[in-house]
Amino acid sequence: MEKRAILLATGNPGKVKEFKDLLSDMPFHIYCLKDLDENFQVIEDGMTFSENAVKKAVQAAKQFQMLSVADDSGLEVDALGGEPGVYSARYAGPEADDEANNDKLLANLAGVPDAQRTARFRCSIAVADPQGNVQTADGVCEGRIGYERRGQNGFGYDPLFYVPEFDQTFAELCLDIKNTISHRARAFQQAKEILRKWI
Ligand code: IMP
Repeated sequence: MEKRAILLATGNPGKVKEFKDLLSDMPFHIYCLKDLDENFQVIEDGMTFSENAVKKAVQAAKQFQMLSVADDSGLEVDALGGEPGVYSARYAGPEADDEANNDKLLANLAGVPDAQRTARFRCSIAVADPQGNVQTADGVCEGRIGYERRGQNGFGYDPLFYVPEFDQTFAELCLDIKNTISHRARAFQQAKEILRKWI
């Protein structure tokens, strides 16, 4: 089958790696923003993950005239009223890195007992074509926030996101396992059905 070009509209190398793995059995030539020597900036001011994902995918599809996939994802912590939510990437400030965000999360949960440290990652994926057609898929992964960082894999809040079923954090799980249970993997299973129609 002839391969079709698809653009992963994210600059996050951790996400690119996961997306490539998840798309490996589909007939796509996969490009990421780094491959296209152009400026791509989207103001992520949506109130939901889905709004932000749609904004990114639609803009990328129009700008690069390619079928484009974008996700928006983040962590919701029950004891913090759903924070950091859509602000996950910049929880500790506009220039915050993963370390600062994890430090802030631990500080805000100081003294919160195990039973109240429930949390979930959410992911919304949007697929858009240059004509402006767009569809979305959503996924959730439930877990708890740990008391200290554990593990070396992954990115973002992975070292603090404990998955009781595996007795490991996302950063301790190997990518193969994370890519079967994660919010992104679950959203992606739905997104694949959408993509099959575009092939
Ligand atoms: P986005 O790039 O706007 O979707 O920002 C999502 C933010 O949520 C990231 O910067 C991470 O902090 C966090 N995040 C999303 N997915 C994951 C994941 O799989 N592991 C760890 N952190 C994640």
